[in-house]
Amino acid sequence: MPESGSKMTPATTHQARLIDGRAMAMRVRAELARQVATLITRHRVTPGLAAILVGEDPASQIYVRNKGRQTREAGMQSFETRLPATVSQSDLLEHVARLNEDPAVHGILVQLPLPRQIDELAVIDAIAPQKDVDGFSIINTGLLAARGMGMIPCTPLGCLLMLKEYVGDLSGQRALVVGRSNIVGKPMAQLLLRENCTVTIAHSRTRDLAEECRRADILIAAIGKPRLIKGDWIRPGATVIDVGINRISVPSPNGPREKLVGDVDFDTAVHVAGAITPVPGGVGPMTIACLLRNTFTAACAQNGIDTGQLSA
Ligand code: NAD
Repeated sequence: MPESGSKMTPATTHQARLIDGRAMAMRVRAELARQVATLITRHRVTPGLAAILVGEDPASQIYVRNKGRQTREAGMQSFETRLPATVSQSDLLEHVARLNEDPAVHGILVQLPLPRQIDELAVIDAIAPQKDVDGFSIINTGLLAARGMGMIPCTPLGCLLMLKEYVGDLSGQRALVVGRSNIVGKPMAQLLLRENCTVTIAHSRTRDLAEECRRADILIAAIGKPRLIKGDWIRPGATVIDVGINRISVPSPNGPREKLVGDVDFDTAVHVAGAITPVPGGVGPMTIACLLRNTFTAACAQNGIDTGQLSA
C-alpha cells in the first residue's frame, strides 16, 4: 500500500499492439469464400469437410458446431458423423475409411479427445494424408519436419500467419515455443525453423522458464496453465502469441463466473510486449480459419487445380 499522501504513478504507460485474431480470421474467411466461389463456378468443385464427433463432450460439440457453421458460410459443404462414446475402434476406422473413399469429402477431422478404448494415433493415421486437414497424421508430421511441407496443423499455421502480418520477416528472430505437444508445440517449432528463426522449445522439465522467455523476440505459449507467463518474464518489445485456453472461476457481484484466460498473464504482459494476442479473440478464431483454408487447399490438390489461379 502507498503511504498516505504519496503520489500514485502508473508503473508503465506502454501498451502492446493487440494482435486481433478475430479480425484477421474474418479477412482470411472472406478471401476464402471468394476463392471457393471461383472454384465452384470455374471447376464445379465444392470443397467438403467431414467432422467425426465421438461422445457427448460439450466443448467438442461446440467446436464441431462452430466449424460446421463456418464451413458452410465459406460456401463449402459440411458433413458430420456423430458416434456414441461406446463406439469400437473398428467401427470408427470403418467410418474413416468410408470418408477416405468419398469424392465429395476433401477434408476429414476427428474431434479430439477420443474415448479411452480408442487408439487415437491409429485413427489419425487412418485418415488419407491428402484429406488430413488437421495435419496430425504421421505422414504430414514427417513432411513438415523433413521437407517443410504437407498439411500444416491449423493452430500453428494460424500463429504463423499472425506473426507474418505483425512481425514481417521472421528470419534470425529468437523464438521460444513453450509446450511440445504434437498438435501445437512441435509443429509450431518446425514452422518457425522453416522461417529461419533460432528456435528453442521449452516444456514441463525446462529448468528456468522465466530466463528462457526473457531471451525470446517471439514467444509462443502453448501450455494449458492459466497466466503462467508473467509480464516480467517477457523481453521488452517481444511478440507474444498466447495459444492457451483455460477456464478459470472469477468472483463477480452475482457469484463466481467462468472466464477464459490464456497461458500468459495478459494484464502485466501487455505493458512489456511489443504485440500480443488476447484470449479469447487471438489464436482461436485463426485456428478455424486455417482449417477451412486447409480444406480448400485439399480440394484443389485432389482435383489437380492450382490454388494460385483462384486468388484473383
Ligand atoms: P498439451 O497438454 O498436449 O501440452 C502442454 C505442453 O505444455 C506440454 O508439452 C508440457 O511439457 C508443457 N508444460 C506443461 N507445464 C509446463 C510448465 N510448467 N512449464 C513449461 N511447459 C509446461 O496441450 P496442447 O494440446 O499443446 O494445448 C496447449 C494449450 O493450448 C491448452 O490450453 C489448449 O487448450 C490450447 N489450445 C488452443 C488452441 C486454439 O485454437 N487456440 C488449439 C489447441 C490447443
